[in-house]
Amino acid sequence: MSAARIVTLPGDGIGPEVIAAALTVLHRLGDFEVTEHAVGGASIDAHGTALTDETLDACRTSDAVLLGAVGGPKWDSTDPAAPRPEQGLLGLRKGLGLFANLRPVRPSAALLDASPLKRERIEGTDLLVVRELTGGIYFGERGRTGGGAAFDTCAYSVPEIERIAEVGFRSARRRVTSVDKANVLETSRLWRETVERYAGDLRRAARGEDADPREDVIELEHMLVDNAAMQLVSRPRDFDVILTENMFGDILSDEAAMLTGSIGMLPSASLGAPGTPGLFEPVHGSAPDIAGTGQANPLATIGSVAMLLRHGLARPEEADALDAAIDSALDGGLRTPDLGGQATTEDATAAVLTRL
Ligand code: NAD
Repeated sequence: MSAARIVTLPGDGIGPEVIAAALTVLHRLGDFEVTEHAVGGASIDAHGTALTDETLDACRTSDAVLLGAVGGPKWDSTDPAAPRPEQGLLGLRKGLGLFANLRPVRPSAALLDASPLKRERIEGTDLLVVRELTGGIYFGERGRTGGGAAFDTCAYSVPEIERIAEVGFRSARRRVTSVDKANVLETSRLWRETVERYAGDLRRAARGEDADPREDVIELEHMLVDNAAMQLVSRPRDFDVILTENMFGDILSDEAAMLTGSIGMLPSASLGAPGTPGLFEPVHGSAPDIAGTGQANPLATIGSVAMLLRHGLARPEEADALDAAIDSALDGGLRTPDLGGQATTEDATAAVLTRL
């Protein structure tokens, strides 16, 4: 079998530091063909644009893409014509058709007291937010009308909802909580109807001959978004997969993220159609305030490597081993400065490696 082809896009600020850490771990796990390309500010400096066609092509023909972070004060500008680092990210999402964003929230046992919520509330939480990423109000028609008014349009089609529902059910172990605002919004009523039908089809298929018996046991519940926001902080451990549209997912995933304590801990995956490469990246930004100091926590990026192995390369055993090594390092007392300790990026990487 030929080695999986991975494109790395280190980007800016602490991006190159956390990607270097993640690559050390990846190479420990096996043979990978890795090629590096510039994105964001680094690409603006080198090529005058945040994402070149060549980089996008390299990503398209890879098996998976691992990104650090983009942006920084050097490229901040009020000139609307100036290239911006975030255009690199949007170009990748669009160019790779990444319609599903996955953010797992699984507070490590060793960090339960670092959360703003009480330990008893979050202990045992292990949930995944599956957010639709390329539709809804963020992509609908918008504008200003005369008389000081403005509008944004939210639109969804049945195929858009079905493909994200598929990702949600595929990722679930016991329950899918589909979040909408069906008491008010027409798009939410279509969302609810479509997810319900999708689940019914799955159940019928599961009774057929080539069934995956797991799919028969996955429950579906619907929840209004305001209620979901409340339940997420009052009983987070009851959730398994939260399946939702673009804007609700944007807000709920940040709320859910706070359960874990530090932004330096959160990995993410953005996926497109089956057979196309996914993009894996830490949730945090380029942290220009600590770039070059060796203080960056690499665990979000190393966790993103675990997601790459699980969702991008279908290598779940290695993904589990890597997640376990991260937990074990934290149990052993590993704390970078964002977690109140003094470990450097290199110390943190070494701590994970010794446990892998
Ligand atoms: P940020 O996530 O970069 O930093 C917020 C705070 O968290 C900072 O104090 C930073 O030091 C700390 N932090 C972040 N990651 C850390 C890590 N791995 N280890 C330890 N501490 C960490 O957000 P910001 O300051 O709002 O943005 C900085 C730049 O990053 C901006 O240019 C912004 O546009 C960009 N950004 C990029 C992405 C991305 O590439 N996906 C996401 C968010 C922000």
